[in-house]
Amino acid sequence: MVAAVIRAAHPLPRRALFAPAAAPVLVVKVGSSLLVAPDGLTRRDWAASLAADIAACRRAGQQVVLVSSGAIALGSRRLGLPRGGRSSLEDAQAAAACGQILLAGLWSELIGAHGLAAAQMLVTLGDFEDRRRYLNAAATLGRLLALGAVPVLNENDSVATEEIRFGDNDRLAARVAQAAQAGALILLSDVAGLYTADPARDPAARLVADVHDLGEVAGMAGTSSGSGMGSGGMAAKIEAARIARAAGVAVAIASGRGRHPLARFLASGEGTIFHPQAGMTARKAWLAGRMQVAGRLRVDAGAVAALRAGRSLLPAGVTAVEGGFARGDAVDVIGPDGVPVARGLASYDAAEARAIAGRQSDAVAAILGHAPRSAMIHRDQLVML
Ligand code: GLU
Repeated sequence: MVAAVIRAAHPLPRRALFAPAAAPVLVVKVGSSLLVAPDGLTRRDWAASLAADIAACRRAGQQVVLVSSGAIALGSRRLGLPRGGRSSLEDAQAAAACGQILLAGLWSELIGAHGLAAAQMLVTLGDFEDRRRYLNAAATLGRLLALGAVPVLNENDSVATEEIRFGDNDRLAARVAQAAQAGALILLSDVAGLYTADPARDPAARLVADVHDLGEVAGMAGTSSGSGMGSGGMAAKIEAARIARAAGVAVAIASGRGRHPLARFLASGEGTIFHPQAGMTARKAWLAGRMQVAGRLRVDAGAVAALRAGRSLLPAGVTAVEGGFARGDAVDVIGPDGVPVARGLASYDAAEARAIAGRQSDAVAAILGHAPRSAMIHRDQLVML
């Protein structure tokens, strides 16, 4: 899946993408392995150094939103659960409930030590998939930032069930970056960035410094899981980059190892930087970042060409309709080669879509007895993937 490459008119040097001028709001995500040592105890000094970095950003005029993992890891130790609390969903949910209160206390104290108010928001996938709830969460984030608070977010793991959860905080952070209208997102990780191959096994492996087109790196996460290099972790980060870039957000994967990880990255720019796309409206970026779709429309090559030219999807180009969806639900548009090309909100429900697929628009009224929309997906409700 190759995202269209739309470069900004005046590309910024890589480090400047994360500076206050380009990113008045910065989202920073920290992984569990950075915050929690293998024995299940908090790396308090490390967390304190990150809190100091956040305070420094604030003094430089930059707002920071923190997405912090670690609830399950912390809670599993406190409750004495095996396998880091991840042997069952019930264990993970119990561990998260216990660990989140520790995590919230930690950040409140460490960020508070700099005279800043930490504010916790626990969110679920549904809070971002539903447009109304998304706008509600976005409004809360905006208000917190306006009040000078440092929002600290995590998934509400203790109630999120398997099929309706993000599961990883990388993609959650990308959605948060969209909602907070952030200019940049930094994924602090235990790896220093995206590598062409597993650096532990392949001496020729090199760090990918700049990514302008996700097509260039799409294969790397796939091959990496086989080699053990990137695992699901890197795939989630690339997906996070896709979601964030669509909203014009620059993304970095950088090493979080060692104290003052944020200040170090901001000074060095070392890591993998995904340069942002430009030109998508906020609503379209939200649509592109959705994770759940209710159905799929298979289309012919002519329809793909029309969509690439910026036109609506007409019934005539639809060859098959899959899934059960209502009018207004998100559906993926699949090209003749089986590759998803676009995502949009359906103008018809699945039964109507099946009845009019492949038919000319002027036949639609006769088939359905009504023709509320000429397009299967209107171009205003559609994004290319
Ligand atoms: N939300 C999970 C936690 O707090 C972490 C998810 C992740 O590893 O990205 O433990």
